[in-house]
Amino acid sequence: MKQAALDAWVQNQERLSCVTRQELETLQLKKLNQLLQREKERGGFYGNLPFRLDSLEGVKELPFTTEEDLRREGNKMVLLSQSLIERVRTENTSGTTGTAKRIYYSEADQNRTVSFFAAGLSELVHKGEKTMICMPFSGARGLGELISEAVCQLEAIPVKVGIGRTYGELLDILEEEKPETFVGMPIPLLSLLRLKPENSLQRALISADVCPKGIQKEIEMRLGSRLYPHYGSREMGLAGAVTCPAFQGMHLRENDILAEIVDKEGNPLPVGCWGELVITTLQAEAMPLIRYRTGDYTRFYAEPCPCGSVLHRLDQVSRMEKEQSLAELDEKLFSVSGVIDYQTTLTEKGILVEGYGTAPLEMPGIFNWRGHPVEYRWRLVKKEDKPCYLGKRRIL
Ligand SMILES: [Zn+2]
Repeated sequence: MKQAALDAWVQNQERLSCVTRQELETLQLKKLNQLLQREKERGGFYGNLPFRLDSLEGVKELPFTTEEDLRREGNKMVLLSQSLIERVRTENTSGTTGTAKRIYYSEADQNRTVSFFAAGLSELVHKGEKTMICMPFSGARGLGELISEAVCQLEAIPVKVGIGRTYGELLDILEEEKPETFVGMPIPLLSLLRLKPENSLQRALISADVCPKGIQKEIEMRLGSRLYPHYGSREMGLAGAVTCPAFQGMHLRENDILAEIVDKEGNPLPVGCWGELVITTLQAEAMPLIRYRTGDYTRFYAEPCPCGSVLHRLDQVSRMEKEQSLAELDEKLFSVSGVIDYQTTLTEKGILVEGYGTAPLEMPGIFNWRGHPVEYRWRLVKKEDKPCYLGKRRIL
């Protein structure tokens, strides 16, 4: 099997002769100690941590950084002066959770993200081809813009679609641009493929939301190729882990991110066990995080990857708190072939599912979900309809 592009990237970025576990871990410890030194000199949020560790194991003795810390004291975690900040990303909040999380990035941080994106995308984006980017375009070097930069680095052509377009508009873009690849969220891709089974799309990278197994299978069947899942978050500079030619999990950019899996109490778990992903962003210039509890639930594969890479692989990633997740319901409802999309609302009577499809839909046989009675309202899809969720799918 050919070497994963990510391995070549790590080797190149770090000027390593080859990427072995030992070389990686030596590099991680070196970067971690440089980071602790910077923190000590800056005297900010992490100023009280030791300035040096003798081994990577020592990181397990350091305190966690929680989402609450990030909300309340995030500004103390910024190590650069304001003039060197290129971009700030603020989470979308409903306004009920108090202060929003803000993550800061320098130009170098953003360039690193583009470079990682280009490595991951090089597995599926070919020179001269078009890539349809259905991710948010939010001004100077937003997510969509960074993906576009990466596509251009590969000498391919970005088709900047964004999110929130109607199905009519999306189908027109497919017709006129004839893109070969797609980058976006899984359900909007499935909807498109169901609305227009005959189209130019051949390959896709999916990110930003859970992709239940049944949905992945159908997308792969319709594309005629395997899906390339990617995992990232604002806290890790949007770029985290991406699949390889073996399509078994997503390899982490471990040269930049020191990752651990812990249980609910924060105890480290052995490789192979499911738990919460904790990250230390070794490479972040503007706002490094040390032992940040991501709230994401996953595991490392225990076995070596058939592609030969030694980089840890993440399994499927979902949120730790599952109450609002739609993955299970998505798996069931999208098993009905005419479903295009739906949204759910928690009402006094139970769960209301309002959706649209390509044909009059029968009840999918779920009258009760997690103890809630379910009411369905289906109608025929129109050109003016849009994907029901612009971000992660959840019960509203
Ligand atoms: Zn692999």
